[in-house]
Amino acid sequence: MSFTIAIDGPAAAGKGTISRAVAAHFGLAHLDTGLLYRAVGARVLTGEDAEAAARCLSAADLEADTLRSADVAQAASKVATIPQVRAALVDFQRAFARRAGGAVLDGRDIGTVICPEAEAKLFVTASAEIRAQRRYRELLEQGAETSLPEVLADVRARDDRDMTRADAPLKTADDAVIIDTSEMSIEAAVATAIAAVEARRAPDVAS
Ligand code: C5P
Repeated sequence: MSFTIAIDGPAAAGKGTISRAVAAHFGLAHLDTGLLYRAVGARVLTGEDAEAAARCLSAADLEADTLRSADVAQAASKVATIPQVRAALVDFQRAFARRAGGAVLDGRDIGTVICPEAEAKLFVTASAEIRAQRRYRELLEQGAETSLPEVLADVRARDDRDMTRADAPLKTADDAVIIDTSEMSIEAAVATAIAAVEARRAPDVAS
């Protein structure tokens, strides 16, 4: 039986951590769909055409260690506005979502466009300031030279592009459970997410 959990939200809200923990808890496969757009963005930074790159992504592209950089994040959110790039990545994501045994996908448009039929949907968010602080700490740990105002400006630019694009903008699905992690510990956020998914699974278990 397939069971799909869609987890959406803006950058650095805690989606990745929550998605990995939820997948591990329920024994499901996990796909970080941001990596697909980052891999396309990384190839565009080397001069490739975005649509061509999206059509021929390989598993190795998703493992490149440059994918977490701030430049690649901005390039990803730019290529993500191109409808042909999004279209080229749809089938892979939908097939992953429906794999036997179930899956967790996290991104921006999973509950709204990729898997509108997902059995459980979460929208994980936090204030832009808190998200920038978290991303800033991560970047410092990676040895990047940056400042908090610079990271906050990047977060806001990416939010703006993600929320205002015409094709599959970032928005909350009507049936998503919203989790604001601004004031939550990681443990509390993960526990809230697991409880929300359990609540959606309960009718199946009972029947
Ligand atoms: O989640 P992450 O920060 O890695 O995503 C990088 C960029 O990829 C986002 O800013 C967004 O523009 C794009 N993206 C998207 N749809 C998804 C996942 C990511 O447009 N499902």
